[in-house]
Amino acid sequence: MSALSNISTWLEENKGQILELARDLVRTPSENLFPHGDHGNEAACQRIVQQYLVDLKFSVDSFVCSEVEGFDNHPLRIPGVNYRGRPNLVASYTGTGGGRSLIINGHVDTVRAANGAVGGAFSAEVRNGYLFGRGSLDTKGSLAAALVAIRCLRELDLRLAGDLILESVVDEEYGAGGTLACCLRGYRADGAIVLEPTQLKICPRHVGGKQWCLSFSGPGAIDAPRGSNPLYRLAAVLDALRLLEKKTDIIKGITTFRLQTDQQEDHSCIVDPGSWEFLIWIECAATASESEVDSLLHRALQECYRSTDLFREQTPTLEVTFRFCPGHVLADDHALVRSVADSYETALKRPAEIAEFPFYTDAFLLQTVGKTPSVIFGPGGGGMHAPDEFVKVEDMHSVAKTLCMSIVQWCGATNG
Ligand SMILES: [Zn+2]
Repeated sequence: MSALSNISTWLEENKGQILELARDLVRTPSENLFPHGDHGNEAACQRIVQQYLVDLKFSVDSFVCSEVEGFDNHPLRIPGVNYRGRPNLVASYTGTGGGRSLIINGHVDTVRAANGAVGGAFSAEVRNGYLFGRGSLDTKGSLAAALVAIRCLRELDLRLAGDLILESVVDEEYGAGGTLACCLRGYRADGAIVLEPTQLKICPRHVGGKQWCLSFSGPGAIDAPRGSNPLYRLAAVLDALRLLEKKTDIIKGITTFRLQTDQQEDHSCIVDPGSWEFLIWIECAATASESEVDSLLHRALQECYRSTDLFREQTPTLEVTFRFCPGHVLADDHALVRSVADSYETALKRPAEIAEFPFYTDAFLLQTVGKTPSVIFGPGGGGMHAPDEFVKVEDMHSVAKTLCMSIVQWCGATNG
């Protein structure tokens, strides 16, 4: 029998394992709490992953990011993030030789649970073919699929020619420290698949981004001269951003408005705020440079300030609150992209779609710091970072099948 039919039969017989493991991971919180604290609580979830890998006879390297030489003073390390008690896991399966090596990278941390999740953020309920819960889509469903894919290859006794390295990393959601530490620890390969919810598209590119805080101060609405309520200034800036978002393909999206005032706790509306601030997160094209994005924003704001007398007395202050995260590009015809696309088509018997992933990911770090060509791939679902997050159960199965075929095709395999 061919590798594909063996893999298909095994995955079909063991279909329930992916969902069961994904539910275990979702029930175990692993929230990235920064910047609301200086840490994250990924350890319990990593224990589940580690046990699974040890049971499969992988050797597992468990390490804390800040123990890695060169990590703490690396220019891409986000200052202030505390990595104590947050182990990264890297499992290696050494090939017999002569094949290409492959990293599969998934993050175990999630954003914080939000109020309003139906059934609770960690209930891991299954409804209408979807698994719900914080991290289900981003990216515990993918991680479960990858672990079961590896179990499948192990139980079929396939010997890989190239090395297979599985990275289960912490802190993707804020500082990307987990993957940075893996790269600095020396993990690199001929190719990497970064697990993120791509809706089953194969993504050799992802967007970049940068965040600013825009602030201005009084007089408040009560004191302000007629027609110059501070919120009118805010409205003018928002309108300028709306036009900027539509004007150029360099800007892919503008999000993360979090309006705050110095009187946030006063719900009576009697005390007038003296200062206002909100965040601007700009997502830019994969190939855009930081200076291109900076100048587009600055020009749009300057035009806005000149176009109305609302800013005659004072122009707002603009401050960078998150460094530029560059976009990621691997050529569509790179051998890795072709191999994953071929594997997808062989596994699922439908054409693969190549696309740009509309969010920032760790693929940039793997490729630039880790010198490992990277593609992004994962299941479909919805509610990423929203109160109700969900992953399509059938897609987890498709991810596992595609990963099995990609590993076999990229690394080379023989029956043991
Ligand atoms: Zn995320």
